[in-house]
Amino acid sequence: MRLILLGPPGAGKGTQSQRLVTKHGIIQLSTGDMLRAAIKAGTPIGLKARDIMARGDLVPDEVVVGIISDRINEPDARRGFVLDGFPRTVKQAEALDGLLAQKGLKLDGIVELKVDEGILLTRIAKRLAETQARGEAVRPDDNPEAFKTRLGAYREQTAPLIDYYRKKGALKSVDGMAGIDDVSRSIDAALPGG
Ligand code: ADP
Repeated sequence: MRLILLGPPGAGKGTQSQRLVTKHGIIQLSTGDMLRAAIKAGTPIGLKARDIMARGDLVPDEVVVGIISDRINEPDARRGFVLDGFPRTVKQAEALDGLLAQKGLKLDGIVELKVDEGILLTRIAKRLAETQARGEAVRPDDNPEAFKTRLGAYREQTAPLIDYYRKKGALKSVDGMAGIDDVSRSIDAALPGG
């Protein structure tokens, strides 16, 4: 099973990806997580991405395409994957099409999590408060200013992907405002065999 989850920051892509991992025995490929790991490890990619991410802007396409290209060649990706936070631009989507075609692979589903923008800031604020309550480090981009930039990047650069995949006849939209279990059920129903 190879899937893409689309949706703005705070839509619940990470939460739903983890459920899909458990259900289907696939891996979650979150470019955000991979970039944060690179920053922590102090790799050249991490150094390049750090300030861009803290501001809430998108890192260059070639950086994330390189990361994903390497990662889907790993043996554990053979059973499938859910892409969470990638692709984020039309360029990235085109690069992904090329990568998959090269490998003779097809996507089984592209699912859009539809949410009201008004709820997103509330969700991010809640995530921030919960992280702080657990005494964990807060993401440098989980603040109102960077969040505004992230939302702008989504609107301008990522939202066009909805049309990109819709035109290919491959897009399913799911109500992301429902409870976590209900959203999971809707995603299952939207996937092949669901
Ligand atoms: P969220 O979706 O909640 O904003 P992510 O962890 O997916 O969080 O992404 C955090 C940041 O990582 C983004 O704001 C961006 O700077 C960078 N990033 C992640 N994935 C990509 C991508 N595919 N293309 C460009 N930048 C990315």
